[in-house]
Amino acid sequence: MGPPGAGKGTQAKILAEKYNLIHLSTGDILRREIKKKTAIGLEAQSYMNGGNLVPDNVLLAIMDSTLTSLKDSGTILDGFPRTIPQAEGLSTIVENLDSKIDYVLNIHVEEQILINRLIERAQNSGRPDDTEEVITKRQKVYTKLTAPLVNFYKNNIIQIDGDGSIDQVTQRILKQIQ
Ligand code: ADP
Repeated sequence: MGPPGAGKGTQAKILAEKYNLIHLSTGDILRREIKKKTAIGLEAQSYMNGGNLVPDNVLLAIMDSTLTSLKDSGTILDGFPRTIPQAEGLSTIVENLDSKIDYVLNIHVEEQILINRLIERAQNSGRPDDTEEVITKRQKVYTKLTAPLVNFYKNNIIQIDGDGSIDQVTQRILKQIQ
């Protein structure tokens, strides 16, 4: 977990490679659906472009079928859950699969650093939601709907300082989970 720009995707990729996990980024999954012009993609597009979250039932259906099909593989979730109902739904999915969540990592970075990072990334990301206005909206949505998850997972959350180089942040994570 972590706000937009915290480095979730970057660190998730590194961890997936190191521990042989499947990296599931809901942002990437949704962008693929948009590209393929599927029903899910068409529904998701306007929410994403406006910096809003795609409805919980859409995400829960995607993650239920994805995690069920990957039942026997370890996964790292990047960008899910993002709301309390998604976290509750994930608990049910995990229980039904007789599986478990090993770690919950929360990468935190000061808001102004995040906004600067995202504006920089916007230069070449080509993402329609990487404009200054939508970036600010995504931070607001994060604070309102996703930040409360820190309390939901308070018993097993690991806090990671996300300010620093990619490698420094990776080392901080490895120290906590090895
Ligand atoms: P970032 O974390 O930088 O905002 P993502 O690629 O993770 O980027 O997400 C981009 C957009 O995809 C979000 O702003 C949201 O509209 C949608 N999205 C991704 N994951 C979820 C989710 N779990 N629930 C609802 N919407 C989501």
